[in-house]
Amino acid sequence: MTVLNRFLLKQPKHTIFQTLRTFSSSYSTSSPQSIKSDGQNVQWVFLGCPGVGKGTYASRLSKLVGVPHIATGDLVRDELSSKGPLSQQLAEIVNQGKLVSDEFIINLLSQRLQAGEAKGESGFILDGFPRTIRQAEILEGVTNIDLVINLKLREEALLAKCLGRRTCSQCGGNYNVACIDFKADDKNPAMYMPPLLPPEECASKLITRSDDTEQVVKERLRIYNEKSRPVEEFYRSRGKLLEFDLPGGIPESWTKLLQVLNLDDHEDKRSAAA
Ligand SMILES: [Zn+2]
Repeated sequence: MTVLNRFLLKQPKHTIFQTLRTFSSSYSTSSPQSIKSDGQNVQWVFLGCPGVGKGTYASRLSKLVGVPHIATGDLVRDELSSKGPLSQQLAEIVNQGKLVSDEFIINLLSQRLQAGEAKGESGFILDGFPRTIRQAEILEGVTNIDLVINLKLREEALLAKCLGRRTCSQCGGNYNVACIDFKADDKNPAMYMPPLLPPEECASKLITRSDDTEQVVKERLRIYNEKSRPVEEFYRSRGKLLEFDLPGGIPESWTKLLQVLNLDDHEDKRSAAA
């Protein structure tokens, strides 16, 4: 707890991106007004179930606005390999097969944010945290989150994407053989997500992760939904939740996400990228 306490004492209450806060407090979910971003003090969270592509969008957005993309899984791995102040304690927890507690994760995160602030980082995008309402509550005491982007994908598409994942057993490359091509119906617009096919040399060496079965994927989604709903509600009630329905594959979704966030990807336009 010492790191957390130090962080709480040290952290000024409002180091926040003011425009966005104004936006956040008056925000209602489905039709966002403009967010002005000059990349200053973006303190954002990405929520979304496994397989939705959070990491991809969080990482692209962090490059675009110039803040680090912080994934808690990486924090744990980095601490374990870095011999940092918490690494020995963490190694014990992990070696005993225990779950890393919410407090511990928050300590790691506080440590990371302090180090970033010292280096002049002007914000962050969190990925995979908070996962539970308790984590959200603790996080609220440690730092001020401006905006929470909840990425959502139609369940049939999500399921197909999860079941379509393949890894090359030789080079470790990740691919996806699912081709989603839903026609529009009464409830949903059409949706197209192309497969991510492997190059020829990998095509015959593809393997499926043993836990990517329909039953396991459905159970994973059920557990995620159960835990995440209160977290979504927590931020919704504070006017910070942005619901974002992914319209399709990355190019289409990225463009729409930038529109919703009122951001401009100059580089993307220049390179007309993937
Ligand atoms: Zn390969």
